[in-house]
Amino acid sequence: MSAARIRGWCPGAHRPMASGDGLVVRVRPPLGEITPDQARGLADLVDRHGNGIVELTSRANLQIRGVTAAAHETVIAGLAGLCLLDPDPATEARRNIVIDPFRPSDIADRQTRIAACLAEALQDADLAGLPSKFGFVVDAGRWRRLDGVSGDIRVEGSGDDLIVRADGCATGHLTRSAEDAVKMSMGLARWFLASGGVAADGRGRMARHLATGVMPPPDLMGDHAPTPSSDPPRPGADSGGLCVAAAFGQLEAEALRALARAGARILRITPWRMVFLPGIDSLDHVADTGGLLTDPDDPLLRVTACTGAPGCPQASVETRALARHLATTLPKDKTLHVSGCAKGCAHPAPADLTLVGRNGRFDLIRRGRAWHAPAQWWLLPAQITAAVQE
Ligand code: SF4
Repeated sequence: MSAARIRGWCPGAHRPMASGDGLVVRVRPPLGEITPDQARGLADLVDRHGNGIVELTSRANLQIRGVTAAAHETVIAGLAGLCLLDPDPATEARRNIVIDPFRPSDIADRQTRIAACLAEALQDADLAGLPSKFGFVVDAGRWRRLDGVSGDIRVEGSGDDLIVRADGCATGHLTRSAEDAVKMSMGLARWFLASGGVAADGRGRMARHLATGVMPPPDLMGDHAPTPSSDPPRPGADSGGLCVAAAFGQLEAEALRALARAGARILRITPWRMVFLPGIDSLDHVADTGGLLTDPDDPLLRVTACTGAPGCPQASVETRALARHLATTLPKDKTLHVSGCAKGCAHPAPADLTLVGRNGRFDLIRRGRAWHAPAQWWLLPAQITAAVQE
């Protein structure tokens, strides 16, 4: 059976998810980074077999949309040729690791070693039952930045040391060794499986499990707090490199090629829907940047929009063209979320203004979430423009 027929709520490359605009193929770059050659190869793949766009996800992955079932095998072969494919679907599903993108570019770096060893350890067959959304976060750099990133087992900095912390616990177990941190992480993962963390439908998260009152054994717990977290980065110079964003987290193939030309040895994919280019201080020398954003005050950064129609079958409205248009007149102190339906996938948090599609028009919610009660109903385009500027 073609893997393309499998539908799941957490897609991979081997197991894509069907969507309104074709298959969604998620690529999990090893160690959260790709080379300029891999970026160029991906750009060619999405031009030939996708919708010409690579999406950046909140778990530092890359997503190709609009792949036909017939083209899936070709895309898989292309990803394998670029060394961006796990050997099998089970390995791919378990390798959910977000790593500090600002770590030193050195194979001996402590965080790099931890993430590489976690990826290897996760291949053990007895971990096959871990839910597909169950993930690991490696956030042990000089500045911790990944506090807001979803993860179930977290390896974090605590002063000069490391702690391993189950998500949902305020503190974790202290260790000085990267190898011990990996062993402890695997111990927590096995405890999660053995203690009933996975529901009958195969889903489960650590924090939800702990909230039921179960606790890991004392040797996997500790009373050491992580180093306080710093703010998430913004586009622009950061940590000896450049953070580059794309409107709505969508990199056009040309923009990916521009990033490959920027001169960085490696492109780090971040969970903030940006790419970090170590050692680069601007894109001024790059011709045709394909709409890349490096200005932290760019109005497009205050606007979010989900896939909308036609990509999402739940949507009755197109979202991103409207969001892009409204960004040009959005007051400087306002945030805007354009959602294809009341699910609010792209921005579950409140926004100053939230437009929610319904039967081809939009409802407007002020200072709320997509599923909150609207202040205005079923607006026409001219009414939307006026309402957003109020
Ligand atoms: S918010 Fe609704 S329309 Fe938008 S991507 Fe989610 S389900 Fe689809």
